[in-house]
Amino acid sequence: MKKPIKPARENISPSDLTFGLSTCKRCLWVKYWYKVTAPMTMPLVGTLSSLQEEYFQRADMPTIDPSLRPGTVTKWGEFVKSKPIQINGQDTRWRILGKYDLVSTNDDGTVGLIDCKVSDSERDSGAFYSPQLEAYAFALENPAAGKAVEVASMGLLVWKPTHTVGDNPDNSGFGVYQKYVAVERDHDNFMRVIGDFIQVLEGEIPEAGPTCTTCQFLTTRNGLDLL
Ligand code: SF4
Repeated sequence: MKKPIKPARENISPSDLTFGLSTCKRCLWVKYWYKVTAPMTMPLVGTLSSLQEEYFQRADMPTIDPSLRPGTVTKWGEFVKSKPIQINGQDTRWRILGKYDLVSTNDDGTVGLIDCKVSDSERDSGAFYSPQLEAYAFALENPAAGKAVEVASMGLLVWKPTHTVGDNPDNSGFGVYQKYVAVERDHDNFMRVIGDFIQVLEGEIPEAGPTCTTCQFLTTRNGLDLL
């Protein structure tokens, strides 16, 4: 496949460092060079995320988890964009661009970064989401414009639905088990992951993965004699 002169987008989405890299990289490459992505339908995800984020706006950080520095959630749902990412001391064309969930202003002038999840997945571990949260931290500490801030803590705020609540149809819903999962800062690992990511993007189009059900569906479907 002939590559265009420049990618259709040069801003790397933090979530692509979690889900994009854990599967086949071919669709990822197409997304950045051609801005073509597979349609996805996740009807409840946006609603549940918004409700959870709203619940923690202006929250006192130590009430979320005692390990967190004194501070208050002051920002939510804002886009952050980084300076160009450097590899081996050289600027690349690539930057981080993403919208975080919650950011606290801490009493000592640092900030805390929180990613909200409504989930019962065993994958909600700090290690799995570390590159994604580090990407937001990188953008906050190396912003394309404005003042840099030090990110003192990063973590996942998970709501796992466990039971139903309420006693009548007009006032009932799901109860959740809440846990805060601290994610350790690991800038070196982030630089390794983003370096590999950029290497994939700057290379030729990768081969399709053997286990992706979407490609298997497309191959099978294209083999049918349909109009
Ligand atoms: S296997 Fe096919 S559909 Fe799946 S991610 Fe790769 S290119 Fe995309």
